[in-house]
Amino acid sequence: EHVAAPASPHSTRTRPTLLVSRLYQPSNLRDVGLPGEMTCRSQRLMQQAGLIHPSSPGCFYYLPATVRSMEKLVRVIDQEMQGIGGQKLDMPSLCSADLWKTSERWDLMGKELFRLKDRHEVDYCLGPTHEEAVTTLIAHQTTLSYRQLPLLLYQITKKFRDEPKPKFGLLRGKEFYMKDMYSFDMSEEAAYQTYESVCQAYTRLFTRLGLRCVQVQADTGNIGGKLSHEFQLPADIGEDRLLVCGNCSFSANVETLTSDRCRCPQCKTGTLVESRGIEVGHTFYLGKKYSYVFSATFNNPQNKYSVAEMGCYGLGVTRILAAAIEVMSTEEGIRWPGLLAPYQVCVLPPKKGSKVGEAAALAEDLVHSLSETLPHLRGEVVLDDRTQMTIGKRLKDASRLGYPYVIVVGQGAVEERPRFEVICQQTATSMRKHLYR
Ligand code: ATP
Ligand code: MG
Ligand code: MG
Ligand code: MG
Repeated sequence: EHVAAPASPHSTRTRPTLLVSRLYQPSNLRDVGLPGEMTCRSQRLMQQAGLIHPSSPGCFYYLPATVRSMEKLVRVIDQEMQGIGGQKLDMPSLCSADLWKTSERWDLMGKELFRLKDRHEVDYCLGPTHEEAVTTLIAHQTTLSYRQLPLLLYQITKKFRDEPKPKFGLLRGKEFYMKDMYSFDMSEEAAYQTYESVCQAYTRLFTRLGLRCVQVQADTGNIGGKLSHEFQLPADIGEDRLLVCGNCSFSANVETLTSDRCRCPQCKTGTLVESRGIEVGHTFYLGKKYSYVFSATFNNPQNKYSVAEMGCYGLGVTRILAAAIEVMSTEEGIRWPGLLAPYQVCVLPPKKGSKVGEAAALAEDLVHSLSETLPHLRGEVVLDDRTQMTIGKRLKDASRLGYPYVIVVGQGAVEERPRFEVICQQTATSMRKHLYR
């Protein structure tokens, strides 16, 4: 338990106070990354703030604050995916090699695929993505009717890839969380509509997070298919090179263009400007590539078997978290998309033994009245009870962790009309508020 008992036995409080002194956030201010590893701002800040801890190259402990943040991100993703009819499932991470041999990706994936054998010497891989798994699931079902289409299945699970160069913390790991959705439709036209609705859901998701992503034409890589877009978050450390036309709506990953890199291939007049991005999402229209090979069919209106049209849609869950921190933070402190901050508010009581000692009780009252009057703050307000430290030191910590709001309960709290200072860290503004009791 990271919490203390309620202050008063007579209080009607149902929740104990969340105390900063009890939160497991082991900050590591010196060593960042593993020896020889490439690090970046988000990795440094996340390790220093006790959000992640390196285990081996590309593998991390996600510490409690990160898990809180991820759970919030998952909730928003669930809302958007279910908003377009997505149904959540969970597929095995241990994937049978047979499936991957059927799709021919057992060889195509090369060293990126983590391969292993069970005690009977049967081959498996640790799922890097699940087109084979989901398509064979549908193939096993003989009663799927066109009336059930479009069918959108998704999961949010750990994926495994033996990256040649894991680096930049959660931005490129050997294991990471991905949201992968797969769609099944009755016709090419319907599949394009589904594709479009997923792209719109992605756009809504990034807008809600306050991330200005660009949707660019992309290569289909070893996933295959005909049409593909990436959602890229502009950032200098991004590993993808993007070309955006200054004149029309054209934007593409450099990988898709063979020549003509300065002149826009769409409007023919505009000049293409190059920038860098972090790939946070990727959508593919697959057609019948997998459904044909695995015989994923449905009963069409003529009551005949018909091969389904597919799409697949990835979101880098842990990458989104790190990428948001990468682009929003300052060198000194994390700034979160408001929806994803592990805790929304941190209340700072005065230093122990200071003249305004009485304000300490007030600070604790404030924590509870905030959670009681504002339901969305329930479980979201922490009390920095490390009162042996000065307010200044604790403010610095609060800035490093990036609570959207910090409330300082000091001198003003014991005046006739009690007031305290509210600091909005996102906008770096502060205001005085009066407390009504
Ligand atoms: P990249 O080009 O960065 O290697 P990818 O194109 O191989 O990514 P996809 O197969 O399109 O990745 O997977 C869907 C999403 O999963 C990506 O858009 C990205 O956000 C995320 N992702 C892919 N690889 C990693 C990784 N090693 N670590 C964290 N997230 C990743
Ligand atoms: Mg890759
Ligand atoms: Mg890519
Ligand atoms: Mg990709």
